[in-house]
Formats: sequence, C-alpha cells, structure tokens
Amino acid sequence: MSTATVVGAGIAGLTAAVGLHRTGWSVRVLEQEPEVRTSGTAVLLHRATVTGLESLGLGAGIRALAIPLTGLQVRTRTALPITPSRPRPGAVLIERADLVGLLRESLPEPALLLDHPVPAGGLPSACVDAALVVGADGIHSTLRDELFGSAYRAAATGTTVWRGTADLVTSGLTEYWGQRRRFGISSRPSGGTNWYATAVLPPSRPGAARADLEELRSLFGHWDAAVASTVARISEASVLRHEIFHLARRLPRYHLGNVALIGDAAHAMTPDLGRGANEAVLDAMSLVGNLEVHHRVDSALAAYDRSRRRTTQRTATGSAAVHTLIHRLPWQPIPNPCRGR
Ligand SMILES: Cc1cc2nc3c(=O)[nH]c(=O)nc-3n(C[C@H](O)[C@H](O)[C@H](O)COP(=O)(O)OP(=O)(O)OC[C@H]3O[C@@H](n4cnc5c(N)ncnc54)[C@H](O)[C@@H]3O)c2cc1C
Repeated sequence: MSTATVVGAGIAGLTAAVGLHRTGWSVRVLEQEPEVRTSGTAVLLHRATVTGLESLGLGAGIRALAIPLTGLQVRTRTALPITPSRPRPGAVLIERADLVGLLRESLPEPALLLDHPVPAGGLPSACVDAALVVGADGIHSTLRDELFGSAYRAAATGTTVWRGTADLVTSGLTEYWGQRRRFGISSRPSGGTNWYATAVLPPSRPGAARADLEELRSLFGHWDAAVASTVARISEASVLRHEIFHLARRLPRYHLGNVALIGDAAHAMTPDLGRGANEAVLDAMSLVGNLEVHHRVDSALAAYDRSRRRTTQRTATGSAAVHTLIHRLPWQPIPNPCRGR
C-alpha cells in the first residue's frame, strides 16, 4: 500500500484524504491546528460538487444536513433586479461545520494528526518518505512557498468581509450591490438566515463584535428593507470579520516532484462567485481519479494539472472581475424613473 501525506485538514485536504483512503492509499493528514476548523457560515455547493461528494459515500449525510438552493438573484441596494431569480438545480446550502464533520467521519481516526504544523523551510519526514504529498494548506500555503517561492504569495484585496447569522426566516440566496459594497442573504440549513457583507475598508483591529455591528448598521442599515431587517437581527456572537486575500499571480503548474497543490493552496480566489470550496472538492476528486488511472504518481499529477489548472484559474479571474465590478468601479445611483413626476 502506498503512503500519502496530506498537509491541511480543510475541505480540500479532507476530501482528498477520504478519496485516497477509499482507493487504497495509506493516508495521514497533518493539520497545524489543535482542532479542525469549522467556523464560518453555510457553503453553497454546486451540483458537480455534490455528485463528487456522493461518490465518496457522503450522499446520505448531505441529504440529511443540506437544503436545496431555491433561487439565486442579484439586486441593487434598493432591490431592483440586476439578474433574474434563477433556480440552481442540484445546488445545496450546507453549514461548513456539517460538511467538515461528514468528511472527518469518513476518515479513520488515526489518519488525522492534529497539532502537526509543517514548518517553512523544510518538509518533515512524513512528507519526504511519502509516495505522494498533497499540499492542501490553504491560502497562505507553506508548500506553495516551498515549491514556487514568495512571488506567489496571496495578496490582500483591500476588501473586508463580515459573515454571520440572523434570527429571521428567508429563502434562496439574494445579493444586494451598491455604493461599492455588497450584502448577501441566504436561508440557513438549520433554520434562520446566513448573511455576509463586503466593503472596501482598511484592515482593522480584530474581535470587536459590537464595533462591527455598529459599522454594519451604518454601512447597510439604510439599504432595502430585507437588508435593514437582517442587519437589525444579527446575532452578535456570530459575527466573523476578516480581510479578503487572493492569489493574484497564477501558478505555472499545480505540482512539482511528488507534491500536488489543491484548493486554496493552488488557486485562492476571492469569494465573489462562491466557488472556492467547490473547486477544492473538484481538485481533490480529480487528483484521486487520476491516481487511479495512472500507474505512476508523476503522470497522475501531470494529468491532474492538465484537467484542473486552466479551469480553476479562469474561475479565479472571473471571481476577481466580479470583485472589481462590485467594489472598485464608480457606482452611479440608478435613476428612479418615477421621481419628479
Ligand atoms: C467569506 C467567504 C465566503 C466563502 N463562501 C464560499 C461559498 O459559499 N462556496 C464556496 O465554494 N467557497 C466559499 N468560500 C471559499 C472557501 O471557503 C475556500 O476556498 C475553501 O474553504 C478552501 O479550502 P482549503 O481546504 O483549500 O483551505 P482551508 O480551508 O484554508 O484549509 C487549509 C488547512 O490547512 C491548515 N494549514 C495551513 N498551513 C499549514 C501547515 N503549515 N501545516 C499544517 N496545516 C496547515 C489550516 O490550518 C487549515 O486547516 C468562501 C470564502 C470566504 C472567505
């Protein structure tokens, strides 16, 4: 049995580890944190991602924990439609903690080594001895640095994102755009509402939930009633805030030697298309599938690179373009045709 070392127990690393385990690899996952991270709100999974996870045996769990996405629409901050409300057949919303939990349950317990950071400047023996190393260590990837150098570090976009839950009932997913800001509202699988908001703001002090609430009220409290009522019912303890980073410079390849990069380590993108976790799962599925087909690890990694690099880099470019559209272009107020009559 060949040994694979996966670095990072996020959605990418856990999906790869489950797939490798199911196809006969002896897998160990090195995670730097003392616990697998589950923070965050619901993740939108597209149909192909759900199909991939079903093939790993997670279908029943997803059906039990996720809810179908009934519609997706973009509106202006005053609720004029920018896009029609479209159903997304096969797409679901699932809490990040539930998805991570399902993946974790599918791995044999000893495979996951918590509190095992891979240090910069030299791979540990668990990597050196393995036939395959999967770099799934996220946006600030140490393995990416090792393979391609500091020129390929993630860069700050200058945009802040807040996420959390609110105590009210909504359906589908609606984004409101205006004033170089965005507010998104979606139904929550466990009941209630998920929301997220973005604005161009300098990085700020962490952790002050009350200050965040005041900032959110002043930025979005005067928007359409659906946004204002969500902002008014935000659960203070749920608010997460951080800066958005992305990999502005495309990697020339997603593998070197016996190391493959997947997920945010390979193509960290802005969250504007809601694709990062989906691409992470699809990378892992592609990697595992190619390892099944090709007898040599180097041929499998080259095939993985061919099947995933162009498509994920195109998606990252699209996501960055939407990010610019929302946050950087001057927004003219849309004239109200009824005003002055
Ligand atoms: C606000 C926001 C909303 C989003 N919403 C969506 C959405 O709706 N749909 C969607 O598809 N995507 C979404 N995304 C993107 C998605 O969250 C990420 O693309 C995805 O989680 C990346 O998974 P990953 O496993 O590659 O990385 P991560 O989840 O970052 O996991 C990396 C893991 O590696 C570990 N690690 C790091 N360095 C080391 C080291 N040196 N040694 C050992 N372990 C290490 C970390 O602790 C972590 O556990 C969103 C992102 C943001 C910021």
